[in-house]
Formats: sequence, C-alpha cells, structure tokens
Amino acid sequence: MEKQIKEQPCVILGIKQRAFLEEEFHPVRQIRSLIHRRTLTLLTAHQQHLVPHLLQCETRLIDPLVGDQIVDDRYDDAIHIAKVIFFYFCTMKKNVDLQPYNSFGFNATAKYFVEINNVDDLLQLINTPEFKAEKHLILSGGNNILFTNNCFDGIVILMNNKGIEIVHEDKGDVVVRAQAGEDWPEFVKQMVTKGFYGVENLAHIPGKVGAAPVQNIGAYGMELKDSFFQCHALNLATGKTRIFTNEACDFGYRESVFKHELKGQYIITSVDFLLHKQSELKLEYGNIKTYLEQNGIAEPTLQQLHDAICAIRDAKLPDVKQIGSAGSFFKNPVISAEQFDALQKQYPDIPHYPDAEGLVKVPAGWLIEQAGWKGWRDEHVGVYEKQALVLVHYGGGKGEDIVSLSQRIQKSVEEKFGIQISPEVNFVP
Ligand SMILES: Cc1cc2nc3c(=O)[nH]c(=O)nc-3n(C[C@H](O)[C@H](O)[C@H](O)COP(=O)(O)OP(=O)(O)OC[C@H]3O[C@@H](n4cnc5c(N)ncnc54)[C@H](O)[C@@H]3O)c2cc1C
Repeated sequence: MEKQIKEQPCVILGIKQRAFLEEEFHPVRQIRSLIHRRTLTLLTAHQQHLVPHLLQCETRLIDPLVGDQIVDDRYDDAIHIAKVIFFYFCTMKKNVDLQPYNSFGFNATAKYFVEINNVDDLLQLINTPEFKAEKHLILSGGNNILFTNNCFDGIVILMNNKGIEIVHEDKGDVVVRAQAGEDWPEFVKQMVTKGFYGVENLAHIPGKVGAAPVQNIGAYGMELKDSFFQCHALNLATGKTRIFTNEACDFGYRESVFKHELKGQYIITSVDFLLHKQSELKLEYGNIKTYLEQNGIAEPTLQQLHDAICAIRDAKLPDVKQIGSAGSFFKNPVISAEQFDALQKQYPDIPHYPDAEGLVKVPAGWLIEQAGWKGWRDEHVGVYEKQALVLVHYGGGKGEDIVSLSQRIQKSVEEKFGIQISPEVNFVP
C-alpha cells in the first residue's frame, strides 16, 4: 500500500484509520470532514494550495465523487476518486478567455477549460460531474474554428499531450507515432530532417497533430490520408480507446468520420504515420516548380521542397499573429461536368481540376474573386487581398461578423455562378 501511494505523486490518501495526514496541518481536519467523514481524505503539505478551494467548495461537488462509492479498504477506488477530485480542483479552470486559443482572434469565454496532457487526464475529466452535465468542445490549435458567440457554455478540452516516437522501422518504411498535442508544422519539420517522406507537402499548415485527420488536411497535391496509418481515439462516453484504421476514418476532401458521424464523440489521442525512406517528390501542384526555378533549384531535396512550400505559403497567406484568419474559409466546390461545360462557355479561363468521374472541382477562391470580393473589408473583417478564399479579422470584431460576411459571399457566388460553396471552418455556437 505504501508503494502504491508513493506512485501517485499528486495524491496522498488518508483512508479511515490509516494516517497519511500530517497532523500539524490543521485545515486538513476541516477538509476531511468537508469531503467525507468515513472514507477519503485528500492532500497534505504538497497540496496546501488547494485548501482554500476545498474549503470554499460545496459538498454537492464532492458527494457525487465520493458518496458511497468507496468501501473501506478499497484503495484502488479511493486512489481513482482522489485523482478525479485532484484533477477537478487543479485542472478545471473557469471563465477562461479563448482569444489566445483561436486563430481568428475572437473574444469568447469558456465556462470551463481543461488542458489535457495525457490520456489519464482525459479519463479523470470524463468522470467529473461537470463533464457529465455540460456540453464540450475539443480544441487543438484553434486554427479551423470560428467562435460565433462570445461565450462557450460548456467545457473546452484543450489537447496538449506530447511525444513523437518510431514504433516500427524496416529497410524502406517507418511508422511514426505522434501524440495529438504535438505541433503539426514542427512534426513535419522533424520528419523532413530525418529524411522521412510522406508529409512534406503538408508543411506549415498551422495546427496540432490530433486535428489533422479531422478534416484530412491537404495542400500542394497531398492529403493527410496518404500517410495516415491509424490513430488512437478515446470514446468520451465509455473511456475506452479505439484504433481507427485509414479505412475506418472514411476520409474525403476535407472530411472524415470525426467531422460527421462521430463528431465530438471521440478524442484523437495519437496518430501513426506510415512514412518512407525514399520516394518521389510531388512538385506538380501550385507554383512549386516556378518557385524552385526562380531559386535556381533543378532537382530539389526533401528539405528544399519543404522550405519552398513554407516560403510559398508565407507569401500567400496571412500570418495569424498579425491578422486573424482560419486559412481557407470555404471548400472548393465539386460540380457536374455538364454544369462545368456550361460555365466554361461563359468563362473560358475558369480554373478547374478533375475530380471523381463526371465531376469537376472549381477553386472557390476564383469564384469569390470573380464575384468581386477580393480585398473587400469593413472596419473589423474582410476578404484577404492576396487570396479571396481567406476571410480575415482585423481586430475589434465578433465571430458573427465573419458569419454574416460568409453568408453574403455564399449568396453572391450562387447568384453569379449557380454554385453553392460551403465552409471548411468549424462554427462553434
Ligand atoms: C493560415 C492558415 C492556413 C491553413 N492552411 C490549410 C491548408 O493548407 N490545408 C488544410 O487542410 N487546412 C489549412 N488550414 C486549416 C487548419 O490549419 C487545419 O484544419 C488544422 O488541422 C487545424 O488544426 P488545429 O489544431 O488548429 O485544430 P482546431 O481548429 O483546434 O480543431 C479543428 C476541428 O477538429 C476538432 N479536433 C481538434 N482536435 C481534435 C482531436 N484531438 N480529436 C478529435 N477532434 C479534434 C475540433 O473540435 C474542431 O472541430 C489553415 C489554417 C490557417 C489559419
């Protein structure tokens, strides 16, 4: 028992007759009676800073956690419950400003806010009464989120678990596991430095690893699904972890099962990537080739391609530290070949890409630009002057300003081209 307790560094338990309390620490007696008379007593010198919180707390917060759940001497239960209580007081913050956590930079307040540093934290969280009573939002880097209200009336769960490791390696391939809270651009940088091929064209996309499968991020002719091997995700209702294969994620263009059927039900905790020690580079898309030529690079290395993509993106997209945005606001619409042929007669220069059979993808940015929106702005929000697909927040605005602007753009594109464009960004009510 002694050993077991020592292995729980954040919780020191006193259970009934066992005296793990420091008697000279008087408030303990009060805490003890407040929490429960007969079972669990928490915290000694190491956790003294919690005393004011505990003393202020109402027993209604504690009772559901302790209540009759502990039978004398069932130490495992006690440890578990103590961890939940500890988590509750130490980790769950109230009324947190979300402005630093969304790339649009809108002000919004979270009723509750929890930072997750490991899977164990998640298991504690889902056992709290608040989690059972409140709605929740999974948040990673906040680069694809629009807070449409100035308050999120529930729990914001910020993923911040870290770690990158090789879990399999053979002559030609590696499987690399990255924890969900790892920074995506840093992860790509590391893989490129190690000479692993498969994610280089996704360089510099802001966000964290765990969010990348949610919308199957894509850029410069590559999508996450191309290197995705599997992910681990925790079911928030049961606390059980499930492994999702590539197929089970049902990836599509900026889509996955996590954005639809299973939205909000699973938290992705880590992602495994299948990468290669040798591969062809993808240079066809966008202006990669032009950039390389202009810089005198005839046969780029993996590193040079990565750096080129970072430079191209920097020139084209706003720096979210300066101007709020969520990157591309709309998805590129996919239309029928007949509709495209009719449009092409009217607009011979219309850019397009082949999609599934009988379908054509048209760049939403071009449609928005043709509808006259590029560079449009009012005091707070606008359409980025260098890329019409990007809606921006210049400061002092509200999420609803972007909602209203996006609706006006949708309407005018539909009126001009008969095409409906839909947002890529996740609206948070
Ligand atoms: C300047 C800029 C450029 C961009 N360029 C591109 C681009 O080229 N290609 C592209 O595809 N995207 C692009 N994006 C969008 C964005 O970078 C990606 O969608 C990215 O994956 C978002 O990551 P995030 O960590 O910020 O996720 P968040 O915005 O925090 O979350 C996005 C969604 O995923 C859910 N979610 C987050 N983490 C998890 C998790 N661990 N488990 C389950 N659900 C989760 C959230 O609830 C939310 O619905 C760009 C954004 C910006 C601001």
